[in-house]
Parts: sequence; C-alpha cells; structure tokens
Amino acid sequence: MPITLTPGHINRLRRDLARKGMEVNGKLTRLLANMNARLLDLKTPDEQKPGLRPEEKLRRYLDKIIAAQRRLGTEGWGKCVTCQAEIPQAQLDDSPWKAECDRCLADEGALF
Ligand SMILES: [Zn+2]
Repeated sequence: MPITLTPGHINRLRRDLARKGMEVNGKLTRLLANMNARLLDLKTPDEQKPGLRPEEKLRRYLDKIIAAQRRLGTEGWGKCVTCQAEIPQAQLDDSPWKAECDRCLADEGALF
C-alpha cells in the first residue's frame, strides 16, 4: 500500500530535511576548514561504523539527507531502500533521512 502524506506533512518533512542538511553541511564545512567543529552533539546514522573518520560520517549523513529530499513525495518515500519494507511513520517524522528499516540497519551493522 503506498504511503500517502498530506501536503502539509510533506512540507514539514521537507523543512526538517533542509534544516538538517544545512546543519550537517555547516559542520562539514567547518570541519574541513579545520575550525574544530563540535561533533559530539550530532549523532549520525553511521555511529555503528567506528572506522569512519568524522568528515566521512558527515558526508554520508549529508548524502542520506539529499537522497531523502529526492525521495520525498515519490513512490520510494517511506520504504527501505534495501528491502522495500515500510519504515514506520513515527521514525520518519523523527528522522526523515532514514533510508533503511531497522532490520537492514542491524544486518549492515553486523557486517562491520
Ligand atoms: Zn529493510
């Protein structure tokens, strides 16, 4: 069953994604400029991969946000990009950049 969102809901998610995208982009810019960006207050979706350097984490986070901005309003929105399972709406409201269901994230985490 396709996930239908009201225009207001889509607008709110779009705003959340844009705000988070600017936040992450700003941190990445500051980090790359060696201005000691404070990373501790930003939890990224890749925390389970300890091998990643901070700027790689931020780049991946930004990529996730941009990909979510593209998915929003399309058929792919709200579906796991790996297994196509529906991602619970509450999770998407909390983290609109979420691209995978918890099961796939757990599988992926186990590989690293
Ligand atoms: Zn999945």
